[in-house]
Amino acid sequence: MNPTAAKPNTAQTPDLDLVRAAFPALQTEVHGHQVAYFDNAATSQKPRAVLDRIDRYYCEENANVHRGVHTMSQLATEAYEGARERLASFLGASSSRQIIFTRGATEAINLLAASFGASFGAGDEIIVSAMEHHANIVPWQLLSERTGVKLRVVPVTDDGELDIEEFRILLNDRTRLVALVHVSNSLGTINPVRRIIADAHGLGIPVLLDGAQATPHAPVNLKELDVDFYCLSSHKMFGPTGVGVLYGKAELLESMPPWQGGGDMIEEVSFSGTTFNEIPHKFEAGTPNIAGAIGMAAAADYLESLGWSWIQQQELDLLEYATAQLSQIDGLRIIGTAPKKAAVISFLIGATHPYDVGSVLDRLGIAVRTGHHCTQPLMKHYGIPGTVRASFTFYNSRSEIDRLAEGLQRAAQMLA
Ligand code: PMP
Repeated sequence: MNPTAAKPNTAQTPDLDLVRAAFPALQTEVHGHQVAYFDNAATSQKPRAVLDRIDRYYCEENANVHRGVHTMSQLATEAYEGARERLASFLGASSSRQIIFTRGATEAINLLAASFGASFGAGDEIIVSAMEHHANIVPWQLLSERTGVKLRVVPVTDDGELDIEEFRILLNDRTRLVALVHVSNSLGTINPVRRIIADAHGLGIPVLLDGAQATPHAPVNLKELDVDFYCLSSHKMFGPTGVGVLYGKAELLESMPPWQGGGDMIEEVSFSGTTFNEIPHKFEAGTPNIAGAIGMAAAADYLESLGWSWIQQQELDLLEYATAQLSQIDGLRIIGTAPKKAAVISFLIGATHPYDVGSVLDRLGIAVRTGHHCTQPLMKHYGIPGTVRASFTFYNSRSEIDRLAEGLQRAAQMLA
């Protein structure tokens, strides 16, 4: 998440109107207004390039992968395995063998808990933090119930940063895994992952980063980061729903037992015993989400065609502009003020309930998320039931933010 690590933008600077026109859903009318879509952290809209690629797959290439000699099956296999190569290059992985397609970030963490966590037991510890999404808490709690492994929780400061001193104190020779979010979905905080990885590796402890909110906003290079496991969801990075990635270092993935059983993940099956396929196929039982993986690869192409430097500049501008506009609203309190933030603003206005604010905004065609954002322990830390969250991306505009600020003024008056 280092802006200087952005790949040079060799393309011309994109035109915002043209970029917006490439997203059909941004033209949707809600209660008579063109939607101002600020729920990008929950899921992003999809560009034509992604929709067209999925359409072409179903219209021209649809067949099951890996098992067919016929031409369409080979086309589908090439496109599916090509998507794996594309995701490997997008993430800076050294090999596509390290890319396991999953249903999303949630399934990636469940896979890891069931497989990598299978050897954990009583006396072992996993470090998570108070700002984790439930997807990076509950799978470890379920594992804890099965095996006795203990969860240790890194606290969060009032600004919404990880308490790194506490993290260092929690690290010890019983720690089997550090599992932390790269970018917080509720606060926008960008965590200091290089330091975290260096500290954990200093004690030989592997690290999982939940990258669901990182990959839509900045380039990541997993080889350079030297992280052991990483996960993401396609639908948050302009690709289709129902697909994502678990990345792992090859030697770790090879050492892990299979998770789900079925077709494709086997080498040979007999009633006297079954042997398993090589990675990544060992972890992909059954017919995968072929169209989803292909669509996700098209989303990676789309992001890189826009250029990371433009995307990051645009999002920084939106974050600064929105922070300034929203800060002028009486009684508005921003939750999460870490110096290094992605384009997410969580807030409360006086004593108004987030749900009521969200409903007023919806009548004005403005889409925000309200509630606990699947981070209930974090809400407990702040002593609040939830927030209103506006999460921006490169296709949002300053004029949409003006509408948000006006809508919030109105909500504040109506609900006072
Ligand atoms: N982690 C984070 C930080 C998230 O924001 C989300 C989605 N809100 C998830 C994990 C889970 O992603 P999915 O529901 O796509 O599996």
